[in-house]
Formats: sequence, structure tokens, C-alpha cells
Amino acid sequence: MKTLAYDPGDGVEFWEAIRKLPGYPANEHMPIRVMLFESNALFRTTEVLQSVGAEQNAPLVVVMDETPMLRAGKDLKELILATLEKDGWQVQVAWMRTDESGQVHTDMPHIREVQSNLSHSCSVLAVGSGVVTDIAKHGCFLYGQETGENVPFVVIQTANSVSAFTSNMSPTFVDGVKRTLDSRYPDALICDLETLRDAPAEMTAGGVGDMLAIFVSFPDWYLAHRLGMDSTYSELAKNLVGPLAKILLDHAEGIRSGDMESVAVLAKIIALGGLAMSLSHATTPMSGFEHVMSHVLDLQAEIDHAPLTVHGAQVALATLAGTHMYQQFLSDFDPRAVKLEDCYPSMDLMQRRIEENFGQIDPSGKAAAECWADYRQKLEKWHAHRAEFEAMLKDWDSIRSQLLQETSSPDVILRILEITGAPLRWSQLKPPIAEEQARFAFLNASLMRKRLTLGDLLIFMGWDRETLWQEIWPRYA
Ligand SMILES: [Zn+2]
Repeated sequence: MKTLAYDPGDGVEFWEAIRKLPGYPANEHMPIRVMLFESNALFRTTEVLQSVGAEQNAPLVVVMDETPMLRAGKDLKELILATLEKDGWQVQVAWMRTDESGQVHTDMPHIREVQSNLSHSCSVLAVGSGVVTDIAKHGCFLYGQETGENVPFVVIQTANSVSAFTSNMSPTFVDGVKRTLDSRYPDALICDLETLRDAPAEMTAGGVGDMLAIFVSFPDWYLAHRLGMDSTYSELAKNLVGPLAKILLDHAEGIRSGDMESVAVLAKIIALGGLAMSLSHATTPMSGFEHVMSHVLDLQAEIDHAPLTVHGAQVALATLAGTHMYQQFLSDFDPRAVKLEDCYPSMDLMQRRIEENFGQIDPSGKAAAECWADYRQKLEKWHAHRAEFEAMLKDWDSIRSQLLQETSSPDVILRILEITGAPLRWSQLKPPIAEEQARFAFLNASLMRKRLTLGDLLIFMGWDRETLWQEIWPRYA
């Protein structure tokens, strides 16, 4: 049997198969025309660019950062630029510079920088991992919005690091808070297996971590759907991604050792993860409590001008916390013990709580204001959908068994992380995360965003999250 039920490397066949799945958006026909997952795919870049309409008599804007990257012992970026020039492209490099944290972040200054490099009839090639891809993508998107010109946009993915490459959204820092902006698809994705194999091990482990998020985000999405808090729910994402724990367990060793087949499998499931979001028109399938927790940690780092940890590695640790949360909730929750009238805190109370809590990390009040603007929509909706919560309490047994199927035991996640060589403790992240920050993120994650997760439900029900955190932390300190 094939490893993947739907293989994004199968071209037209892949798209024909997935458009039959329930939840597939009727009007989206092959939004990404080419996806290559091959040895030496890099040397097909010219062919791919031309196949999506790039013209050689206009500039080819190559977006990259200054991180040195090696492929089979050679400088990857030099190799790409030399190949493009040999093939006759008018290469114009848009270098993304680091900020005071020493990193490049997806923010409006970088996005505008890309946009300012674009001109009539040009095409764009992003060479990088998630951040560079998101910046380039959104620069193209804004240029398209302003000029009506949809520039050919191709991505060379340089690491199996995050599920961003096939996404039509861009997670962007707005006033320090990470927000997901609507953006556009790339026209083509090039996964050169030698490049992915030779990427830093911590980035590859991050890609595994970013995918493991589904064991929190899928049950969160289902929960929000049942509570009347999310109308976008479908089973498309679940079908696309398939039996992830099994696939990753089968390939974890190969991913760690750089076996080409396993490198390709990881690249493909990462592509499927991105498509699961894009085709559902929401990041919700791949981003639940664990991602919000990670966003709070990023927010703290942004405020301190400190470097961010590898996204997926941080998400993996937050996923462990999230699956523990599910485990405890699914074993201990008793719907008969819920005091309904206590589950609906007032707007004033929650606004004060957000101002106080986020004021601790950002005394300027900007972060709190940004969080409240989003959170208040969720709180209003929660009040308006009380009937669905009451129905959930009555139908708890069936909802519980569905949630049990969607989540996973933290031990399985730990095992996958262990074999792939990913960090298993907050102290192993680079830079490490101290308990104070992790605890703040765990307790306040839900106050940041309008999306409902199990974290919200626990807050509304007055669950003892402090004690829960004290049980989780020592395992992964
Ligand atoms: Zn992610």
C-alpha cells in the first residue's frame, strides 16, 4: 500500500483525487500547478518557472535571507543564482535583512520591501524556509492587490520546517502580535530532496513538530464546531493528512538519518498540511491551542527583541502540553458537575483580565488591546451560542469518543519526537524557554485570539489549570 493516500507529487492525478473529497472548495482548480518532490529538482527551476508563465525578458526577483545554506557541501544560494544566470534569467535579488533580534521576521517592513522590488511582468522566486516564503508570498499578494497583476510566484523550499509552503495565508506580526493574513498560493513548489536532507536537523525536527500539532488542533476544531463557534469545519483536512502518527513513526528514523524516501514523505505531508489549511480557508485545522501558546511565546520574545525559537520545535512542546490537557479533560470531565450560569464571564471581567495579564509582558498596553479586539468577538459568540454548549453537555459521550479519536496520547508524540531527534524539553529549545514564560503562555494563550480551543472551555468552566500546568511542566522542563 502507498504511504500516502493522496500524494501531492502525483500532479493532476492528485488534484483530481482530492477534489472529490467532502469539503473541497468547488471553485479552486489546481491552485498550485506544479509540486516537485525529487532528487535534483533544483535543476528544473527554469522549466518550472516557465511552466507557470515567468518570462525571461523581465526581471526574476529572487527573495532570500542571508542565512548560509549548504547542499551536498556546496553553497546553495550561489548554486541557485549561478544556475539561473546560466539559464538566461535577469536575476534581481531582494535580500531580507535581520532585525535587532538577529533574525528575519514576517512583518510589514519586510513584506513592503519585497513589494517595492516588483515591477510589470516580473516573476518571483522565494528561496528559503517558512519566513522567507511568507514574506515573498505576501509581497506578491499585496502587489497583486494594488496593480491587478498576478505575478508568477515559485517557491524553492529549503527546509522541511513548517507547513507554510503550500499555504495561501501569511502569519504576520502586527503590533508584535502574530496574525494570519489572507494571502495567495504559490504557483509552484520545488522540493529538492538534497537541499531538504542537508537542512539543519533542528529545522527538520521543527517540521515534524508543526505537523504533530494536529493532535491538538483537530480536536480543538471539532470542539469549536460542536459548540457553534466555527462554521468552517469539514473532514477535508483529516482526509488529506491521513494516519499521521503511523506515517511519522514509520519514517521517524529515516527523517533523522536523511533517508531520501523519508525526506520526501515529510516534505509531502508538510505540503498536505499547508493545503489542509488553504483549502479549508482557515489555519484552524493545523493551529489550535498549541499554536496560540506558541504565539504568546513569540509575542514575549518580540517585546524583548529576543530571537524566536524554531517554530515547530516550540509547537511540539506546546502540543505535548495540549495533549496532556486533552487527556485530563477527557478522563475527568463530568458534564453533570457544570454550573452553567458560572460559565459566562462578563465582557468587563475578561477585558480587565486581558489588560492585567498582557500588561505584565507589555506595559504599553498595545498587546493587550490587540488581544482584546480579537478575544471579545469570541466571548460575544460564546454568550450567543449557549444552546450548543448545553447540547454538548447532553451529548457528551459521543463528543468525547470523537475527541478521543482526534487527539493522541502524549507518549506517542514524545516517541516520534525522540526518534527524529527533536527537543523533548523546554530547556533544550534554542533559545531555551523558562518556566515563567511557558506557564504564562499556557495560562493566557486562550485570551489572545478569537478562535475557540479546549483552553477556552477550561477557562469558562473554571477548571484548575494551575494544577494541570504543575503536572505538565516537570515532565518537559
Ligand atoms: Zn505552525
